[in-house]
Amino acid sequence: MLHVSCFMIKELHNKLISKEITSVQLTEEYFARIKEQDKNLNAYLTLTKELALKQARKVDEKIAAGVEIGMIEGIPGAIKDNLCVTGVRTTAASKILDNYIAPFDATVVIKLEEAGAVFLGKTNMDEFAMGSSTEKSAYGSTKNPVDLERVPGGSSGGSAASVASGEAVWALGTDTGGSIRQPASFCGVVGLKPTYGRVSRYGAIAMASSLDQIGPITKTVEDAAIILSVISGEDKMDATSAQSPAKDYTKYLTGEVSGLKIGVVKDYLEKLTGEVKISFEKVVEKYRELGAEIKEIELPNAKYSLPVYYIIMPCEVSSNLARFDGVKFGMRAEDHEDTQLDFLPEDRNLIETYLDSRRYGIGAEPKRRIMLGTYALSSGYYDAYYLRAQKVRTLIKQDFEKAFEAVDLILTPTTPSPAFKFGEKTADPIQMYLEDIFTITANIVGVPAISVPGPTVEVDGKQLPQGFQLMGKWFDEENLLRAAHAYEIATK
Ligand code: GLN
Repeated sequence: MLHVSCFMIKELHNKLISKEITSVQLTEEYFARIKEQDKNLNAYLTLTKELALKQARKVDEKIAAGVEIGMIEGIPGAIKDNLCVTGVRTTAASKILDNYIAPFDATVVIKLEEAGAVFLGKTNMDEFAMGSSTEKSAYGSTKNPVDLERVPGGSSGGSAASVASGEAVWALGTDTGGSIRQPASFCGVVGLKPTYGRVSRYGAIAMASSLDQIGPITKTVEDAAIILSVISGEDKMDATSAQSPAKDYTKYLTGEVSGLKIGVVKDYLEKLTGEVKISFEKVVEKYRELGAEIKEIELPNAKYSLPVYYIIMPCEVSSNLARFDGVKFGMRAEDHEDTQLDFLPEDRNLIETYLDSRRYGIGAEPKRRIMLGTYALSSGYYDAYYLRAQKVRTLIKQDFEKAFEAVDLILTPTTPSPAFKFGEKTADPIQMYLEDIFTITANIVGVPAISVPGPTVEVDGKQLPQGFQLMGKWFDEENLLRAAHAYEIATK
C-alpha cells in the first residue's frame, strides 16, 4: 500500500502528474482505509466505489494521453449526505429519506465533477443538519478519530471525521450555524463557511435557507482555498447566489498578515476561561508576532445571536421540512420496518397519511424545531417572534458593518470547549445549542468564516484539538484565507 492518506491536494496532484501513482490506485487506497477503519468511525453512510473508480479511470486516461489536469482532478473526497448526487442515495441522515435516490446533482457536485474530482461517498451528519455532535443521525453517531469516546462535532461530523482520519482528502459540509466549523475544530482540521451567496445552495437539502452555506472541510487552508475555487460562483439555479465569478483563491495565500487589522471581541474575551482561553491567547499572540495589528472591538448585539437563530432557523425549518410528508417527498410510514400504524393505509385520509409518515420518518430534534417554528410563525405570534428576530438580525449586522470599518478580520475561538463525550449534552438541548455561541453570528450576518486548528487543549490528560475562528468582511474570502494560511504555515 502507498500510504498517501496524509498528503494534501497539491502533493497528491504532483504524484499524479509525475506518474508516481494513478488516480485509481489512490482511490483504491482510500477505500481500503475506509474498509479498515470506518466500522469504528461510521463517517460514511454510503460508499460510491463504482462511481469513484469510473471518475478516477477517466483522469488516468487523460494523464496517460499527456493531457494537462487541474489541481483537484483525480483527488478523492467525500460529500455530506444532504447534498444531491445523481443516482446516489441521499438521506440527510433521516429515516424519512431512507430510500431517496437523488435524481439530480447539486451545483457544487456538478462543479466538482466537471473539475475531475473523485467521489468516495456520502458522509454521516445530524438529521437534516440539526445538531452539534452527529449523535442525532438516524444511522448511528460518528466517532471522533482523535478520541473514539468523543463526538466529532456536527452536523458535518462525518465529513470532518473522514478528513481527519485519512478516509478522504477533502470533504464538503454545510453550515447553518456552525456545522462546518465546529466539527472541524473538534477533529483538528480546517472548515470554511463561505460568504452567504458565494456558493450555490442548489441541490442542498435545505435546513434554514437564509443561513445555509456549503463549504469545504480539509486538512489545510490551501486545500480549502482549492475547493472553494472550484465550487464558488454565480448559479442561475440559486437566486441568492452572488453575481461574482469563481476565482483562484490560492493566489492570495502569501503567508503575510502584516498590515492586517484583526479585531478581538471584548465581551468574548471576558467570558473565556481555562484551557480554551489559554489556547486562544496564544493565537492572538501569534498574529501579533506575525505583524497583524490586534484591536479590541465590540459587537454589542452579538449576545442576541443565539436567541435570534433559535427563532429564525426553526421558522425556516418548519417551512422547508413541510415537503417531507410521504407524498411529495419521503417514505410512508408503512414502508419503514417495525411500524405500528395509527391509521390503516386503506382507511386514512391525506392528513392522516402525513401524520403517520412524519411521526415515523422524522426524528425528535427536527420535530422539536418544526414545532417551535410553526408556533413562532403562527397568526398572532409572527410579529412578536419572527419579525422581531429579523429586526435584531439587522442590528447585529450593523454591529459587524461598524466593526469592519475598524478591522479587516474578527478573531474568536470556534467553540467554547473541545470535543465532548457521547451523551454529555444530549439530555439538555440548550447545552447543545450553546455550542454554537461563537459560530452562529457569521450565519446571522452572512460573513465568511473559517476554523483553523489552534493550540491543543488538555482534557483528562489528553491533548484535544481546539480551533480558532476568523470572520471576514462580506465576500472577502481573500483576506480570510490569507490570514488563516499565514498562521498555519507559521506554526507548522
Ligand atoms: N448546531 C447548529 C444547529 O443545530 C448548527 C447546525 C448547522 O450549522 N447545520 O442548529
